[in-house]
Amino acid sequence: MTSPVVRFAPSPTGKLHVGNVRTALINWLFAMGNGGKFFLRVDDTDTERSTEAFEAQIKADLKWLGLVWDDTFNQSARFEKYDAAADKLRDMGLLYACYETADELDRKRKIALSRGRPPVYDRAGLNLSDEDRAKLEAEGRKPHWRFKLSGGRIEWTDLVRGPQGIDTASVSDPVLIREDGSYLYTLPSVVDDIDAGITHVVRGEDHVTNSGAQIEIFKALGGSAPEMAHTPLLVDAEGGAFSKRLGSLNMETLEARGILPMAILSLLAKLGTSDNIEVRDNLESLAAEFDFSKIGRAPAKFDERDLLALNATLIHTKPFNAVKEQLAQIAPEAANETFWLAVRENCQTVFDAQPFADIAYGHVEPIVDDEDKAFISEALGLLPDGELTPETWKSWTTKLKEQTGRKGRGLFMPLRKALTGMEHGPDMGAILPLIGREAVERRLARG
Ligand code: GLU
Repeated sequence: MTSPVVRFAPSPTGKLHVGNVRTALINWLFAMGNGGKFFLRVDDTDTERSTEAFEAQIKADLKWLGLVWDDTFNQSARFEKYDAAADKLRDMGLLYACYETADELDRKRKIALSRGRPPVYDRAGLNLSDEDRAKLEAEGRKPHWRFKLSGGRIEWTDLVRGPQGIDTASVSDPVLIREDGSYLYTLPSVVDDIDAGITHVVRGEDHVTNSGAQIEIFKALGGSAPEMAHTPLLVDAEGGAFSKRLGSLNMETLEARGILPMAILSLLAKLGTSDNIEVRDNLESLAAEFDFSKIGRAPAKFDERDLLALNATLIHTKPFNAVKEQLAQIAPEAANETFWLAVRENCQTVFDAQPFADIAYGHVEPIVDDEDKAFISEALGLLPDGELTPETWKSWTTKLKEQTGRKGRGLFMPLRKALTGMEHGPDMGAILPLIGREAVERRLARG
């Protein structure tokens, strides 16, 4: 295969959510794994809804994820190209003016349906004479422009979906230019893909029908269409459609929750594929394992629990330095390796360490049940002298066991609750020296 050239083409009308990132990632992995190029195309032809702030955020998010691009460009800078392509299509007789209002089109659709016909545009615009057009424009109407589909069958072998066919006689000629002269997405995308030398268009399967018309436009303007790959969409864990919940899982939110890029990328790369969902700690490994043939046809279920599990595996195996900065955000004292090693098994994200940092370095409300009061004060009396070390817990509880006859849960739980204010948490042997003698004595005495 010659080196692929792909693009990720977000519209800067919102933040990147997990669905967008999956499309970006698949493009990126395919390019990276095959020595190709990855372009970032900013689809900002909708000048009302696109903002520079969203564009900047999208770029920052992609960089945070490590999905760097070889080149980037904005569609808003290329209107002249789209105008030239539109002129070319007009000259070829493939772009024609239509004057119906939305209401009139709606009526036409209803009439077609009531007569048992598919609601396909009747091409009235194609049959207008110059005089008809002049008359309509004298009425104050402005044209919108439709691409004339061939009426034949368009076929392609989708890299994910296999053989695909769209019968263009059964779909309406798509509008490429609105009445106000603005472009819908269909034409600019093709013009850009031709100019950028895109070899593979990789996107969500919500674009499959667009591909029918776009392949014909590719052929009209550039001779041939790129390869196509349409991936099944993400659905939420309950199997529902791409929900509001998933839409709100943007990169800022995930970063703020302490989710690491490689947890997100590992999940999105493997979701809906024949590979097991396992964490990888670099994009190169994911690229080496990527193949379109592994992507299944069923919707890919995105479950946040999977994301947390992968994040947990990552942070448990990462060197301390990789989590130090996040720990420092919890509390400056928490950014130390001994603390992290003591608590990490109890954390799915680094920020889960917050309550344990309170235990080790901050304030805790001891819990001492009435029936444990005497035991806790005995424990205070038996606390070994000297500095508390990782061995202290063992020798202290062994002695307590001998003296009080308590064992198991009855021995350990009251101590845990008095010292940490919780019933669950990190290994007490490791956390005790971090709490330190002074706080240990204070907490036990309060019981
Ligand atoms: N801006 C389009 C979208 O976000 C791009 C689709 C494509 O990749 O062609 O849906």
